[in-house]
Amino acid sequence: METAIPLGRIAGVRVGMSWLVPLVATLWTLLLAERVLPLAVPGRTPTAYWLAAVGGAAGYFASILVHEVGHALVGRRDGMAVKGITLSLLGGHTEFESEPATPGAELRVSAVGPLANLALAVGFQLTTAFVGADAFGGVGLAGQVVRWLAVMNLLLAVANMIPAPPLDGAAVVGAMVWMAVRDRTRAALITSGIGIVVGVTVAGLGAWLLVRRVDPFTGVLVLGYGLFMVQAARRQRAVAPALGRLRAAPVASVMVPDPPIVPEWATVGDVVTWAAAHPGHRAFPVQAADGRITGVLTAPLVDAIDPGRWATLRAIDLAWPIDRVPLAGADESVLAVIRRAPEPAVPILVLGPDGRVAGVASPDAAERAGYVPPP
Ligand SMILES: [Zn+2]
Repeated sequence: METAIPLGRIAGVRVGMSWLVPLVATLWTLLLAERVLPLAVPGRTPTAYWLAAVGGAAGYFASILVHEVGHALVGRRDGMAVKGITLSLLGGHTEFESEPATPGAELRVSAVGPLANLALAVGFQLTTAFVGADAFGGVGLAGQVVRWLAVMNLLLAVANMIPAPPLDGAAVVGAMVWMAVRDRTRAALITSGIGIVVGVTVAGLGAWLLVRRVDPFTGVLVLGYGLFMVQAARRQRAVAPALGRLRAAPVASVMVPDPPIVPEWATVGDVVTWAAAHPGHRAFPVQAADGRITGVLTAPLVDAIDPGRWATLRAIDLAWPIDRVPLAGADESVLAVIRRAPEPAVPILVLGPDGRVAGVASPDAAERAGYVPPP
């Protein structure tokens, strides 16, 4: 996830924005205030144009937010934990901690975004019939902004349905192919193939606009986005087989089983001594007197501090606190577990059916399961 400026929560979902959003919002406002609105409704004061333009730009980002909140809420209803929404340069992105479990869920979660924009387009278009009608029978400044929002939402709905990653259309097609072939990995390979063809077509269209000088500016944008789609589809294709293996491998197959459990009163020095007697272990769950696991101490944390402090520093004070350590069931897939891991350095505590510690999976669990990152 790109570094995001936090904006708050909507229906419990964390929302942030890329620092590019204020820039894009300014460009939209400028375009509306200086070009679109004066052309559509001449003879108003600059202040009126600017106020209307700010409303239009805000409405545009609100529309993108409605699209993303749609993904988030439908995903949550389908049992997917939502990490958060980020508004960015080209729209937005909703990140989940887990994948859709079924093709039906994938279809619902991906289709709802464009459908939300389609509904907004219809809603805005109907609203123009009531807003800002003036004596000359046209629509006023407010009506023009609402009409612009209707057009933008229609464009958002159509553009997002293009079947090439990273757009929603690719996921919609992917879900339908998955339904048809009943094999998620094969579906991803087929869908990425479609994405490559679509991306090349879009890039070709951009090149044509550019070379024929029909609209060189749009040409460059379309060419660039087409190439971006091809790249995203090629990446999807490259990782599909490995993702399939990670989905099939239980985390128990890659964890280090039965790690030595250390008491909270132990010092880092104690743990270093015990670790020498347990070769192969690099993560040590820390247990409170009442039996609860309260943290996990890892070798990199110990290596990072001055050995002079080992004798006095308590293990629990150096360990990852338990509320930062992802917990996993031993039968969960490696993919499900690593998607939940907040950062690569944090170990994953694997619990057996009885709720006791069964093992610790290191952040390289994916590589252990045979994942080879694409070139
Ligand atoms: Zn979307």
